[in-house]
Amino acid sequence: MKEITRKQIQRADLVFRGRMSRTTFLDHPAFCYSFESSGFKDYIFGATTGPSIGIDNLFHEMAHAIDFVLTGDDIKRRTLGGRFNFEVNMVSINGRLYEQLETSQCTMRECRAFAIQMKLMHIVGFKTNLESMAANYAHLTIWLPDWYLIEGDNETERVEWCKNHIMKLYNEYDDQSILNAFQIWLDSIQHIKQSVKAS
Ligand SMILES: [Zn+2]
Repeated sequence: MKEITRKQIQRADLVFRGRMSRTTFLDHPAFCYSFESSGFKDYIFGATTGPSIGIDNLFHEMAHAIDFVLTGDDIKRRTLGGRFNFEVNMVSINGRLYEQLETSQCTMRECRAFAIQMKLMHIVGFKTNLESMAANYAHLTIWLPDWYLIEGDNETERVEWCKNHIMKLYNEYDDQSILNAFQIWLDSIQHIKQSVKAS
């Protein structure tokens, strides 16, 4: 998807709101987004990554939120401080904690997020080619710390594996469960924000 400059934010916001108006989420009090921030901070989905701004970044962050719900993660723990906490699972070996990197969980999480992102973007009416979208996203996975654990003898084979995995996941997710999961997420965040305020 094309990158957008600061001057184009207003236009991008109109496009984003137009797409999202196919859902009920724009009116949810916990649905906050910004074209000025990145990731998920202060309970706000951000559209920037590094120097670039893009609507698809918003959908990517929303996809991580949906993934936390679908995988049954503890939403309160994952959003401590109002931001995503992506820490990997730790294993205890002889009383010491180690990162469980042998499970390729970072790459698997990103593959799920990309598949959910594609699903969500299609639900709200983006008509992007699935295969090329999955191929683009698969190329981004090579920067992940546990990517070398993915099946394959070389970079081309691993990227191909990730692309196929993203497509497989995409076909497994159904529209309604994606939308339901995001509703659960927003309701949970609303509840968390209220309890933070009250304490
Ligand atoms: Zn991600």
